Amino acid sequence: MAALHRLPEPTSCVLWREPERLRDLRMETVTVFEEDEHFRRALLKCPECGQLYFYEMHEEVDFENGQDPVTRLYTPVPTGEHAAALSLAASPSLQRVRPILRDVWPADQKTSTIAWWRVQAGN
Ligand SMILES: [Zn+2]
Repeated sequence: MAALHRLPEPTSCVLWREPERLRDLRMETVTVFEEDEHFRRALLKCPECGQLYFYEMHEEVDFENGQDPVTRLYTPVPTGEHAAALSLAASPSLQRVRPILRDVWPADQKTSTIAWWRVQAGN
């Protein structure tokens, strides 16, 4: 199994202790790397502490049901350069980055599930 790519834990960010705050926190967009209707990669900043996050949104198009499943990944990064490097990586490589905050909304659920995948748990 490939090694995990470990990044520093964003211990001073409110999202580290209270990931549910993602629902009401208005993240600031610093840079958009890639964007279309169903896919977005950007560098975001926490409005409260300034912590940077590499963000990826991926929407699966489901023509049969009204709502499409959406996955949002927030990878805390120490610098914008880290985010730029991640923006060049293929999506599956993000699966090996820890910690990563995942906001997953399956089509058949009323709301999304927000959880950290850390080095020790969640995988
Ligand atoms: Zn923060």
